[in-house]
Amino acid sequence: MKVLVTGGTGYIGSHVVVELLNQGYEVEIIDNLVNSKITVLDQIEKITNKKPIFHQIDLLDKPVLEQIFTNSHFDLVMHFAGLKAVAESVEQPLRYYNNNLTGTINLLECMENHHVYNLIFSSSATVYGNPGIPEYTENLETGHNISSSYGKTKYMIEEILKDLAIANPNFNIIALRYFNPIGNHPSGLIGEDPNGIPNNLMPYIMKVAKGELPELSIYGNDYSTPDGTCRRDYIHVVDLAKGHLSAIDALESGFKAYNLGTGSPVSVLEMVQTFEKINGKPLPHKFSPRRAGDLPEFWANPSLANRELNWQTTLTTEDAFRDTISFIEHQ
Ligand code: NAD
Ligand code: UDP
Repeated sequence: MKVLVTGGTGYIGSHVVVELLNQGYEVEIIDNLVNSKITVLDQIEKITNKKPIFHQIDLLDKPVLEQIFTNSHFDLVMHFAGLKAVAESVEQPLRYYNNNLTGTINLLECMENHHVYNLIFSSSATVYGNPGIPEYTENLETGHNISSSYGKTKYMIEEILKDLAIANPNFNIIALRYFNPIGNHPSGLIGEDPNGIPNNLMPYIMKVAKGELPELSIYGNDYSTPDGTCRRDYIHVVDLAKGHLSAIDALESGFKAYNLGTGSPVSVLEMVQTFEKINGKPLPHKFSPRRAGDLPEFWANPSLANRELNWQTTLTTEDAFRDTISFIEHQ
């Protein structure tokens, strides 16, 4: 079975490529390297002893994309490519809508033209917006009060996929709604390596631990949560990657969405304490005002994925910290 992976040199895509290669799938990757490095391919080869075919192209370049579909027959597409920085998307909405929506539409048109009907799409818990309850199930209405242009692109793409699956029942589409992916492959060879000052909690903690940033600001300690700090559902990226493999077997006519999360919320303070335990020393941190747009807490109800994908998480936040420390030591 040959799988086209868009965004396959990125953080999550590269972990899925490793799982696919380890399970014997043939893989071709498309990525424009706007947020990843070509050296990831060598790391994937070190882990799997296999090197996937790589095309450095932009999904916005439709003629070149068409050519790739003409040259190879794909059984399945996994679509990770997209811009994902929440704050940047608010500053540059047109770039985000163009890249994420036009890129996806180009991909879908090529798939339809070449009769490739199996698709697994990287969606996000952000499609739920602010539903007013913290535990998200797939049957909640999506799209209300989504605070960023990034989040809206995920919602809009899901709507496009639903319409497409109705118009052309040949399509078998699964959207996987990720909660907060963290950690990396236990080899320490691939992982998340953002440039500059990170926005997300995990990479920020790592930069403080390395001494590249002086201290972590914990955004808000007066929320109505058990310790006053925000709670999220942190999922190890290897568990997340395995969820994609499980989804392949569940593809059927139409559109279906699944939450990929642990179902257990963890607070920012608990994350800091876990890191300190694993790293064996205190992490400099202070309490700062709330960050605009943050919800106090939300987590996945993963029972649909547990049941229908026959998938569940096995790794912990401790595993994620250990693996991330190992990734940093390899840099
Ligand atoms: P990432 O930035 O590491 O990977 C995305 C890859 O897509 C990058 O390698 C980038 O170079 C590539 N890309 C972007 N636009 C492209 C284009 N027009 N043409 C070709 N390649 C392009 O991000 P990630 O964390 O691996 O996320 C993968 C997917 O999962 C994204 O769609 C993201 O929105 C989604 N997602 C991520 C998270 C998260 O917290 N990491 C949470 C929910 C959903
Ligand atoms: N957070 C924090 N300090 C940081 C980065 C994040 O306190 O430097 C908190 C943030 O307020 C949120 C949680 O950590 O409650 C996870 O934030 P992240 O940006 O990683 O993911 P989000 O859930 O916002 O997508």
